[in-house]
Amino acid sequence: MASSNRASPTWQEILANILRLEESRGFEDRAVVGGLDKFLQQWSAAMKESSADTALIKNLDRKPYAEMAKGERRRWSQRWNIYLEDYSSQNEPPGNEQPQNQPSPKHKNTATQSARSTKPDAPVKPAQSKPSPKPKTAKAKPPTDSQTVKSNANGKKSPTGLQLDVPVNRLRGVDTKLSAKLARLDVSTIRDLLYLFPRRHQDYSNYTKISKLVPDEECTVIANVWEVQALSGGRGGKRKDTTAVLGDETGNLKVIWFGQRYLAQTLKPNSRIAVSGKPSVFRGQLVLLSPDYEVLDNEQTPIHTGRMVPIYPLTEGLSGRNLRRFTWQALQEWLSGIEELLPSEILPRSGGMPLQEAIRQAHFPDTPELWEQARNRLAFDELFTLQLAVLGRRKHRNQDVTGVAIETQHQVLEDFLSSLPFKFTNAQNRCVRDIMTDMERGTPPMNRLLQGEVGSGKTVVALAALLMVVAQGHQGAIMVPTEVLAEQHFHTVSRLLGGSSDEAKDEAKSDYLVTVNLESIGRQVSVGLLTGSTRAARKRELTEMAASGTLDLMIGTHALIQSSVSMPKLVLAVTDEQHRFGVAQRSALRQRSEESPHALLMSATPIPRTLSLTLYGDLDISTIDELPAGRQEVATRWLAPTSREAAYGFLRKQVLEGRQGFVICPLVEESDVIESKAANEEYERLSTEVFPDLTVGLLHGRMNAKEKDRVMRKFRDGETAILVSTAVVEVGIDVANASVMLIEGADRFGLAQLHQFRGRVGRGEHKSYCMLLSDSPSEVAKERLSALEHIHDGFQLAEVDLELRGPGDFFGTRQSGLPNLRMAHISDRNILESAREAAAQVMEEDPELKSKKHALLAAQVARFLDAVTEENS
Ligand code: ADP
Ligand code: MG
Repeated sequence: MASSNRASPTWQEILANILRLEESRGFEDRAVVGGLDKFLQQWSAAMKESSADTALIKNLDRKPYAEMAKGERRRWSQRWNIYLEDYSSQNEPPGNEQPQNQPSPKHKNTATQSARSTKPDAPVKPAQSKPSPKPKTAKAKPPTDSQTVKSNANGKKSPTGLQLDVPVNRLRGVDTKLSAKLARLDVSTIRDLLYLFPRRHQDYSNYTKISKLVPDEECTVIANVWEVQALSGGRGGKRKDTTAVLGDETGNLKVIWFGQRYLAQTLKPNSRIAVSGKPSVFRGQLVLLSPDYEVLDNEQTPIHTGRMVPIYPLTEGLSGRNLRRFTWQALQEWLSGIEELLPSEILPRSGGMPLQEAIRQAHFPDTPELWEQARNRLAFDELFTLQLAVLGRRKHRNQDVTGVAIETQHQVLEDFLSSLPFKFTNAQNRCVRDIMTDMERGTPPMNRLLQGEVGSGKTVVALAALLMVVAQGHQGAIMVPTEVLAEQHFHTVSRLLGGSSDEAKDEAKSDYLVTVNLESIGRQVSVGLLTGSTRAARKRELTEMAASGTLDLMIGTHALIQSSVSMPKLVLAVTDEQHRFGVAQRSALRQRSEESPHALLMSATPIPRTLSLTLYGDLDISTIDELPAGRQEVATRWLAPTSREAAYGFLRKQVLEGRQGFVICPLVEESDVIESKAANEEYERLSTEVFPDLTVGLLHGRMNAKEKDRVMRKFRDGETAILVSTAVVEVGIDVANASVMLIEGADRFGLAQLHQFRGRVGRGEHKSYCMLLSDSPSEVAKERLSALEHIHDGFQLAEVDLELRGPGDFFGTRQSGLPNLRMAHISDRNILESAREAAAQVMEEDPELKSKKHALLAAQVARFLDAVTEENS
C-alpha cells in the first residue's frame, strides 16, 4: 500500500478535491480544465500502480466521464468517494480516532480473510484452484461491465469444470437448516440459487447527505456510527430494539431498529455504515425506522444498500439479507461455471447479453437499463427452452403413433347442419373444417384445442366431429368436469341429434341413455351419460354397451376414466373445460380405447397467444372468434359497497318485470365446505331479509348432482326467481329469461371467470345486466373490474387479466402443465415469437439436440422437463 506523502498530494487527495468541486458544480465536468477524463488519463498509471484494488479501478474507469449522464456521474463519483474515504482513513497518521476505530489492522487482514472465505472441504471451488494474483480485496467490487465479466470468466473458464449442480450447502453459512429453507424456494443446487431471481429491486443507488434528507423519500446514507444502544420497546418493554445516532459531515441522524437487539452488539461506535430507507419525522426530528443497513468494512462491496438492491421471494426463517449474501457469494465464486447456453447464431436474437452477465445483472444490476437487458435475455432463454421442449415433445409423441383416418361424409354433415334450428357461424364452419382435416389425415392423431367464448357454440362443433366418427362405426366420448355440465351436454346432444323434435327419444331411459334414429347414416345412434352418481345397474348397462361397441357416444365426468370403463372403438375423445383436467386424466380418457384416438380439447377460457403457445405449443388451435348473431352485450358496472341496496333494488325490479337473476357468492379458496356454508348464510339472509317476497334458490358445490340438477331445473323452469350460487354456476345451464347477475366479492375472481359468469345472462332476447360488488377492492382490483365494464371480448380480458395478475392466478395455482416462468411475462409477445422461431430453426437443424454445440441446450431442456413433470405429478 502506498503510504501518503504529506509533502506533495497523492492522486487520491487531488481526486477527492476534484470530486468535491464537481459535486458543488452539479457534475457538469467543469472541475478540471479540459475535462475530468484528461485528469484520469494523466494519472491512470499511478492509479493502477498505487492500488491493489484493480477491479475497483477498472470498474470506475470504464466509460469516459464526458459521455456519462449526470446521474451516472453522480454514482460514479460516489463510488470513488467510498474508495477515497477508505483510503484516507487507512492512511490517517496515528492519533485521534485511530485507537477506537482501528480500521487498519482489519484491512491488512483482508488477504487472510479472503483465503478463509474458501471453505476447505469444497474441492471444486474456483477460488481455491485459481491462482490469486490480487490478494488484496480481490472481490471488493462487482465487475460492473461486460468487459470485466468476460475477463473474469476467461480467467476462470473451466479447465476445472466447475459443477453448478452441487448442493447449495457448499456456500459458506448454508447449513442443513438453511438448506431446508432454501428448498422451500425450490433451491437445492447452486444453479438453482443463481436462477432464483429477485422479485424486484429497491433502488438505493443514490447517496444522500444527512442535511439533504427529505421525509418519505427513499435514501441511502453513509455515515459514522456515533453511539449505539439497546432499548426496550413495545408494550411492557418486551420488544428489544436498537437505537443509534449516525453522523456525517452535514449532521446527525437517529435510527431505530425495532426488535433487533443483536444490532446493539454488532454495530460498533465509530464504524461506518450505510443505511437505506425512508426517513420519517418523529417529535420534530428526522429518524430512520428499521432501515436496511450494511456495515461497511472495506473488503466488502455493499449489497444491501447503496445500489439497486435485490428483493427476493422470502420464506420463513430466511431473511432478505441472508438470501442476498448467499446469492452474492454464489455470483462471486460460481458464476464462471455458467456456460453460455445459446449457440452463437441464436445469441443475437436474445438481445445479445452474455449469460453470465445477464445472471449477474438480474441479481445486482448496475442500472435499471442493464437489468432490463438481462431480463430480456433470461426471458428469451426461458421461452426458447420451453419451445424446444414443446416442439420436441410434439415430434416425439407423433412418432410411431398410428391414428384412425376418418373420412368426412359430406352428406351426413350437411344433413346434420340443416337439422339444426340455427345456422353455423363462419367461425364454427372453419373450426369444423380444421377438425375434419386432422381426422382425415389420421396419422398422427389429432391433438387440437378448440377455444371459444361461452356461448360461441363449441359443443355443436364437437358434435359434428363426433357424428363423423359414429357414422363410420366408431365410438366417441365427451368428458366434462361437473355432473351438471355432463347432464346438460347429454341433453343438448340428444336434442341436437334428434333435430328439434323429441319423438326419437326413448323416454323411459332418457336421463342416462338415449337412442336417436339418424336417417342420414341409416341407423340408430345411442348416447349414454355416465357420472359419479349413476346408479350401479345403469352403470353396468352403460359400460357393457360401451365395451361391446354398441354405445356410440358416451358423455360423462371423471367417471369415464375409471378402469371399469372401456370403449374399444373410441377414436375421438373430447374434453370440455379442458384446463380443469390434468394431463394424465386427459390421456386416461384416450386409453379407454384400443386405438390411438384423436383428441379434441375445448376451452371457454380464452387464452392469449403468448400463453397458448407457452402452454399448448404442442397443440393445434382453432378458435371460434365470433358469437352467433343476435347475442347482446351484457351491461356491466362495478359498484361501491355502499350501492349494495340499490343493486338489490334493481334486481327486484327486474324480477317484478318477469325476469330472473343470479347472485354469485365470493370465492372461498380454502374449501368447498366453507364456501358452501357462506353461500348458505347468504341464501338465508337474502331469502328472509332482502327478498322475503320472492322465490330464492341456492346452488353450491356440496350438493350432490341430483340436488344441483333439481335446483337448476327449477330455475330453468322459472319456479325460482333468484338463484344464489357459488362459482359452480359457471358451467350451469342456459336460461334465456335470466337478465341480471350480481357478483359479490368480484375482486376474488379472475376476469376470464367473471366474463364466463356474465355469459350466463344475456342468452335470450332481454337486455341484461351484470353488477360487480367488492367490499374492499384494491387499486389493481378496481382496474381489473372496470376493464370488465368496457371490454366484452374474452380474449382481450384474458390479456388484461394475465398482465395484471400473472399466469399463476389466471388458472388458479399451478394449473396443469403451466410452466414456472421466472423472467418471461405473458406480455412478452416479441420475445416469444423470436424464441419460437429460433427453436424451430434449431429443431430443423438438429431435432434431437445431439450436436455438440447444442449439448448445453439439451441439458437445459431436460431440466425444464423435469421441473414440469414434477409440478404435474
Ligand atoms: P359453448 O359450449 O361454446 O359455451 P354451446 O355449444 O353450449 O356454447 O352453445 C351455446 C348455445 O348456443 C346453445 O344453446 C347452442 O345450441 C347455441 N348455438 C350454437 N351455435 C349457434 C349458432 N351458430 N347460432 C345460434 N345458436 C347457436
Ligand atoms: Mg360449453
